[in-house]
Amino acid sequence: MAIIGTDIDKAKTLLQQGEAVGIPTETVYGLAANAFDPLAVAKIFAIKNRPVFDPLIVHVASYQQALTVADFSPVAQRLAHAFWPGPLTLVLPKKAMVPDLVTSGLTTVGVRSPRHPMALALLQALPFPLAAPSANPFGYVSPTTAQHVHDQLGDKLSYILDGGPSAVGVESTIVGFEGGETVIYRVGGVSVEALEQEIGGVRLALHASSNPKAPGQLLSHYAPRKRVTLQSLSSFTSEQLSRMGALVFRLPAEGIPLKNQVVLSPAGDLAEAAQNLFSALRKFDGLDVSLVWAEAVPEEGLGRAINDRLRRAAHPA
Ligand code: AMP
Ligand code: MG
Repeated sequence: MAIIGTDIDKAKTLLQQGEAVGIPTETVYGLAANAFDPLAVAKIFAIKNRPVFDPLIVHVASYQQALTVADFSPVAQRLAHAFWPGPLTLVLPKKAMVPDLVTSGLTTVGVRSPRHPMALALLQALPFPLAAPSANPFGYVSPTTAQHVHDQLGDKLSYILDGGPSAVGVESTIVGFEGGETVIYRVGGVSVEALEQEIGGVRLALHASSNPKAPGQLLSHYAPRKRVTLQSLSSFTSEQLSRMGALVFRLPAEGIPLKNQVVLSPAGDLAEAAQNLFSALRKFDGLDVSLVWAEAVPEEGLGRAINDRLRRAAHPA
């Protein structure tokens, strides 16, 4: 069983020995391994039961280190300087140092520098970057605490570094570059508005279906064990409502028992709602409901990422 602790040296030693370790980031918890060691990276895929066509994000200590794994265009450099360390992943032409397993054979690599102080301290102490996807079984809701990682992967890991609850709570925004255009593959912790303020217009390409470049795009993803619906409440009878759960933005929903409801942010704050989203979705696994009604939040700022995860959680597998 994995130990949960705050010993950065211990995490460092395990990573240097080629092991996979659970690490905190400001978005969600990651399952990290030496990005330059294919055998260590293979452990990530095995532990998560992740298909090898789903590439990993390479986490770096700095822009300087990022230059060892990817080629930066002037726009990419500008975005890195504006948003790193932070929840923005840049998809860029990869350097030969990066093993094919990390990128699922693509000629590009996703790279970001995380803002979590413990993750940064660990990366700065290591002589290599860390490949790390979210530390959850493939397809399930991402973890935002060390305990979430322990609950699902604890029997397959030896150490989980505990950095407290993730401050952002949703995954990074993933941005790529196609023929001079900046394309958003996944909405996340950096808002579309913030990106546009920095570099002007961007294109959203979130709904690839088969063989997606960014499987965070898969329609059914981030799913809890209970079925989730975004259908209007008026489409349910009062009898049905009395047996349902509800995940709501600021106020409880009428007709659904209060004990089956989770409020994301009573103050109506989208950042707080994002922070609470995945913990909230997990709560329904332990409640006696078979269907959870999710309320969409305003489609702005972090609200886009929240609604995106809710839609994917609601999509039938
Ligand atoms: P996770 O950290 O679990 O959200 O998974 C990392 C995600 O990053 C993958 O699901 C992909 O969507 C995305 N990603 C990583 N590398 C690339 C790449 N080279 N091209 C496109 N997407 C990527
Ligand atoms: Mg993931």
